[in-house]
Amino acid sequence: MSKLRAAARSGRGLQQGAGEGRKSPRRCRKNVSSHKGMLPPVSAQQSAYHLFSHPAEIEAFRKNLLAWYDKCKRDLPWRKLAASESDANRRAYAVWVSEIMLQQTQVATVIDYYNRWMQKWPTLQALAKASLEEVNELWAGLGYYSRGKRLQEAAQKVVSELAGQMPATAEELQRLLPGVGRYTAGAIASISYGQATGVVDGNVIRVLCRVRCIGADSSSPAVADRLWDLANALVDPARPGDFNQAMMELGATVCTPRAPLCMECPVKQHCKARCRVEKELEFASRRLLGKAASSCSQAPDIEECGLLAGLWEFPSLALGPGLKEKQQREALLAHVQAWAGEAVARGRLRHVGEVSHVFSHIHQTYVVYSLLLGRDPEMASGWRDEMLERPAFRWVTQAEFQKSAVSTAMKKVWKVCERQNCEGRGSGQGCKRKRGADPSRAGQRKVEADGSLPPRQLSLDAFLKAPAGE
Ligand code: SF4
Repeated sequence: MSKLRAAARSGRGLQQGAGEGRKSPRRCRKNVSSHKGMLPPVSAQQSAYHLFSHPAEIEAFRKNLLAWYDKCKRDLPWRKLAASESDANRRAYAVWVSEIMLQQTQVATVIDYYNRWMQKWPTLQALAKASLEEVNELWAGLGYYSRGKRLQEAAQKVVSELAGQMPATAEELQRLLPGVGRYTAGAIASISYGQATGVVDGNVIRVLCRVRCIGADSSSPAVADRLWDLANALVDPARPGDFNQAMMELGATVCTPRAPLCMECPVKQHCKARCRVEKELEFASRRLLGKAASSCSQAPDIEECGLLAGLWEFPSLALGPGLKEKQQREALLAHVQAWAGEAVARGRLRHVGEVSHVFSHIHQTYVVYSLLLGRDPEMASGWRDEMLERPAFRWVTQAEFQKSAVSTAMKKVWKVCERQNCEGRGSGQGCKRKRGADPSRAGQRKVEADGSLPPRQLSLDAFLKAPAGE
């Protein structure tokens, strides 16, 4: 288990992760954010490390993946239909039904529903004539009933407004059919019409993030856009439908969330996370068996993977092994002072909590500290000028933090601080009060060991500067 020490405080000053090539003596790090203020937003930097830069590698990736898919793909009814149906319109309908049914539902559950649906309504025209009651009846047990209803409404639209012809490109499918999003449109267009467009779903995200060692929060729009770019760059123009299904199949059966089968993986030679995953699994199994770790089976260090390259993080510090709590605090304090540009009283560094996170099978624990700065960095013009000259740091507002290229772990760190802040100010102001909490104690402040009162815990918003225009 890797151990990161993070010191984070109320506001959010961010520093950029060193990522690739950055090594720490042991996997320990600190994050420090202090008080409000903001430097101009910086767009996420995309490292070449996270891309496929050589056409020959892309070719090899496609070839290996498709060869595996041809040999190992699961025998599924919608695949059979897509392969055997010569009418493109009917093929698109068959793929569309399967994609809608597979949303948030497992393959094994969908098979029977799919077979019965296609038997009852083998064409768009047949579905368009069905009653909503019939649709709901067949859908019963599959969940999310609005999916069936929207599918039927869209079929009626195709029949009445598009002369019964399915749109043939991803762009048109998404634009013209209600309930068809970017993923579904890409799947239908590539599988039914051979359009060379990629798809990104949960399985593909996992594969891409591992293959290219991407540790950023994939739910952020900026990262999602980069993943779509990557999928579009990788898709095989000769067999786009098979390629997309192969990526999803790989994520579902080999590159699984837990214990991926790297040894059986057809793209292992292209995967930047593989060595780290194998190392982590070996380390875990040795620990389980009580065997001493060999020199090559040390738990992997997040710093060695490049997983956080180019991402913003709270000021952080990797700590050496064997440090006592007091020494950790001292090290953190020194780091914070250097970063904040002012002396920081020891008592102002507050322990907030711990955050565990798994980066592609590498476990990290952040110990989060918070710090209330004694001055407004926006007001300290000299210091602000100095910070502006250091692009590795920036101040952001709360809204900017949410939009920034930060890892999921940093968002967790932020949540812990936010929770503590809510608890510190009791109920109200958008905070949910814990059941059983004593409102009479809200706002009471613990006296420090030296008898002084710590700085009052302000609400998070008090640390944040509203973005211009808000
Ligand atoms: Fe996933 Fe392992 Fe294959 Fe990489 S080598 S894509 S981690 S299964």
